Amino acid sequence: MFSFFGEHEYMPCEECGASVHHAARETHVCNEERRLDFQRFRQIRSEIARFEDEFTRYLRTPEGRFHAWYAERDRRRAA
Ligand SMILES: [Zn+2]
Repeated sequence: MFSFFGEHEYMPCEECGASVHHAARETHVCNEERRLDFQRFRQIRSEIARFEDEFTRYLRTPEGRFHAWYAERDRRRAA
């Protein structure tokens, strides 16, 4: 039978990340342990993204450029 949802029949639950069949979305109950793991994972991922953003911005500042240059110089010396 043709399904409108196709490959999207299963959608990740926004709370716990579990694959939930669209027909079960209304009745899906998150596994608490899984939900906490998923929230932690999402938090870590966003912290990493934020850190990368800040780090990239920092490297564009004069101080950041200096530190990048200095670290690179150290790295070359060690090699
Ligand atoms: Zn869930």
